[in-house]
Amino acid sequence: MAIARFWRETPRRYNLGGSRCTVCTTVYFPPRSVCPTCTTHRQSLGKMEPFQLSGDGEVVTFTVVHEAANGFEMLVPYALAIVQTVEGPLLTGQVVNLRPEDLQIGLKVRATFRKLREEGPAGVIHYGYKFAPKEEAAMAPRPGRGSEQAPAASHAPEPSRARA
Ligand SMILES: [Zn+2]
Repeated sequence: MAIARFWRETPRRYNLGGSRCTVCTTVYFPPRSVCPTCTTHRQSLGKMEPFQLSGDGEVVTFTVVHEAANGFEMLVPYALAIVQTVEGPLLTGQVVNLRPEDLQIGLKVRATFRKLREEGPAGVIHYGYKFAPKEEAAMAPRPGRGSEQAPAASHAPEPSRARA
């Protein structure tokens, strides 16, 4: 992908910046300048506002990729999911921080920003969103490891910890 195009798309890649129709409240990602949901598109002209998606969502469906595209060889197998965001739009992205065989439809996930790929010998690194299980605390510490260090804290809930 050309660098110029990549930078043009950067705000939405990094921030999940979409748009919202102030007439019917439908949220879009990527952002739109007219609303296809409104009965007449003309209604929404000039009524679209920037809208920040939270990145929270739920896995609707997924597939496990075994044949990597160029630049993704080191990742296989990896899980690619369609995520229904809490605001509405469907996003497609890789799910990280869990084994593909542990992925389930309905899993609550949150978008995180990660390295996507490196391009060419110059090593241009592309970043974008991926998804990670929302309850990461439940995935990380395994019983029998580190439990002797902080027995009380290891059972404490960590509701909003998001690893970047
Ligand atoms: Zn609308």
